[in-house]
Amino acid sequence: TDVGAHLDRLIRDVPDFPEPGVVFKDITPLLADHDAFTTVVQALADVGRDEHGAPVVDKVVGMEARGFILAAPVALALGAGFVPVRKAGKLPGPTHAVSYALEYGEATLEVHQDAFDDGERVLLVDDVLATGGTAAATRELVERCGATVTALAVLMELSFLPGRAAVGDLPLHSLKTV
Ligand code: 5GP
Repeated sequence: TDVGAHLDRLIRDVPDFPEPGVVFKDITPLLADHDAFTTVVQALADVGRDEHGAPVVDKVVGMEARGFILAAPVALALGAGFVPVRKAGKLPGPTHAVSYALEYGEATLEVHQDAFDDGERVLLVDDVLATGGTAAATRELVERCGATVTALAVLMELSFLPGRAAVGDLPLHSLKTV
């Protein structure tokens, strides 16, 4: 497909980043290419539509930081609002917080308590699904606000990590699996 070709061509592997032994998927070449960026945003937005093309979500959540870049244009394409999920200490208002385990240590994500209305339908958008810790914590944050996560859309799923299992019964749409 068009989308697959763009992803193959414009996401590059960076060995030993951010630490030795990790191969980082760098999406900046994709973001710099207008055609590719447009095509990929449309494909992610389609996850938030029904079979007739009508939007079925009220809000789109992006996870700091690359998730913001993708989720904001997806929200506009769907006529939905955008909500940031941020690392601890960045949001100014009262927040919910969820911590999850990393390989070494722990990370905490936050969302504003008033970011959603009760029962709103929410699409999560991020660039890469690795262990799934970020996505699972984000889903919990949204649900603490009384809203419902309907799906997770990512550019790329790393199948050698247990991300798909970590998101459990949440429908996962990956534009590419490596
Ligand atoms: P997880 O929580 O699933 O282990 O990691 C996913 C989060 O870390 C995402 O927010 C994603 O942006 C970031 N991440 C992990 N590995 C990579 C990678 O190789 N490339 C990019 N671009 N992001 C990554």
